[in-house]
Amino acid sequence: MSLSEIRERIRKAEQAAGRVPGSARLIAVSKKQPAERVRHVLKEGHRLFGENRVQETAGKWPAWQEEFPGVELHLLGPLQTNKTRQAMGLFDAIHSVDRPKLARTLARLADELGHCPDLFVQVNTGEEPQKAGVPPADADAFIAEVRALDLPLVGLMCIPPADEEPSLHFALLRKIAERNGLQGLSMGMSHDFERAIAQGATHVRIGSAIFGPRETG
Ligand SMILES: *Cc1c(COP(=O)(O)O)cnc(C)c1O
Repeated sequence: MSLSEIRERIRKAEQAAGRVPGSARLIAVSKKQPAERVRHVLKEGHRLFGENRVQETAGKWPAWQEEFPGVELHLLGPLQTNKTRQAMGLFDAIHSVDRPKLARTLARLADELGHCPDLFVQVNTGEEPQKAGVPPADADAFIAEVRALDLPLVGLMCIPPADEEPSLHFALLRKIAERNGLQGLSMGMSHDFERAIAQGATHVRIGSAIFGPRETG
């Protein structure tokens, strides 16, 4: 599907939900996509991209950022503590803050570097053992912990279980955000972004619907 078609679907979903046009930002998820597809979307003028891995991002984005000024990069995948410094140099936002050790490392480096990307706490709304994120029951305490470290926490992120109605998970994430006074909601992917927008998503993360299937491996 083309970028303009996705933009149109986002606009319609915002309208259907009675939301301000442009209030749901489109993160084009470029992980494991062939270079020519990503360049095509850059040439169309899109500037907000999501990646899953620090190493892959470091390998391909600096050159594109020289060629296409104004690119904003968001890290969506799990972050190992030993890659935090590198990630803070590459990304404008990190959506996968999910444990105290990572929060403490971010705080220490933010002090040292004098800047920090915008942060989202990932919540494992489906409580799936194989998935990253804090369990919903621990979210309030962890959010308080991140805030006590003076980190720029802007919102929450979730990836609903594949086999459940995502709207229930989006609604749960929104409830946790509301009671903690957080504005940002990173939720909704290729197959459910319209439902996420209906539930208040401020950032939808769309990969395959824009770029086509990913390269494997
Ligand atoms: C890969 C990925 C996406 C995009 O998934 P699509 O189904 O291709 O839209 C969104 N969010 C996260 C965290 C991802 O890892």
